[in-house]
Amino acid sequence: MIIQFKQPLNQAVVQSLLQKLKEKQHHGMLVANHLVIFDADELELSEREKSVITEVIHTQPRYVLGSRVFHPEDTIVKTPHNKIGGDNFTIMAGPCSVENEAMIQDLAVQVKAAGATVLRGGAFKPRTSPYDFQGLGETGLGYLRKAADENGLDVITEVMSPEQIPMMLPYTDIFQIGARNMQNFALLKAVGQTNKPVALKRGLAATIDEMLNAAEYIASQGNLQIILIERGIRSFDDKYSRNVLDVGAIPILQKLSHYPVLVDPSHAAGHADLVPTYGQSGVAAGAQGMIVEVHQNPSQAWSDAAQQLTPATFKKMVVTTAQIHDLLLKNQTAQDQN
Ligand code: PEP
Ligand code: MN
Repeated sequence: MIIQFKQPLNQAVVQSLLQKLKEKQHHGMLVANHLVIFDADELELSEREKSVITEVIHTQPRYVLGSRVFHPEDTIVKTPHNKIGGDNFTIMAGPCSVENEAMIQDLAVQVKAAGATVLRGGAFKPRTSPYDFQGLGETGLGYLRKAADENGLDVITEVMSPEQIPMMLPYTDIFQIGARNMQNFALLKAVGQTNKPVALKRGLAATIDEMLNAAEYIASQGNLQIILIERGIRSFDDKYSRNVLDVGAIPILQKLSHYPVLVDPSHAAGHADLVPTYGQSGVAAGAQGMIVEVHQNPSQAWSDAAQQLTPATFKKMVVTTAQIHDLLLKNQTAQDQN
């Protein structure tokens, strides 16, 4: 249950309510001017308590901070060069892994020219085999930051452990939590304690509720600058596509939560020829942006070679997806006016 108080907050009443909860072994927390109480459908309120309350909401999901019940408006995630969410359409692009300085510098120029405003690139890679390329580490982060700064782009890059966070702070604008770490709760809490936006990818076999509860771990630490990324989930048939892109999850995540939802067609498709269509379908389903892997010479890439687009294909994909997004927005605006 959520109790919304009149302003200014009557601290005496709030504190006595919190005390009452403690005695009843209920977990409650004060968020902005709301008291969120878990595991209590009903709490008897005195006349004095009722007099300082504007509204009592009786049902709420466990991921209360991320839910529209608590926060009806869209969250806009702010980075130095972007406002992500709402009606904005944000394109993030770059290689799966940063391989050397020249490639990321050249890609920054190319993806920017195509319309991207965030540069992606992994410097710490969660590879299935420990013998595969693990990323250039801090050296790679340096190349990424420089290439982004020279082109007026933001950086998104994956963090794999809480210990990496302090070192990574100057290099990144958005912390990416990869699919394999979606339920690494120590990592989620640690990025939740920073003041940088966090992009959370859906786990390999995660339900929508598991994803929103993972986001709640970040939010519970005070960081509500969260972006959700649908990147496909495992199913029984991976013969023709790497994963199943769950486009249906996009409007559901947007209905349940206020966070921006982006689509990652690269990791969903796993094959470059499918990536533009997967991206288009994600945007048609309402995604507020995309994150796409782009490489000058995809077949020679040190990771995810099969799914990376050439800059030329990426450029065409941006044109089509931006048109789809514009069309949806125009229709929505026209409907709102009627
Ligand atoms: C990546 O972005 O390169 C990556 C490893 O993605 P995911 O965590 O979605 O597999
Ligand atoms: Mn990748």
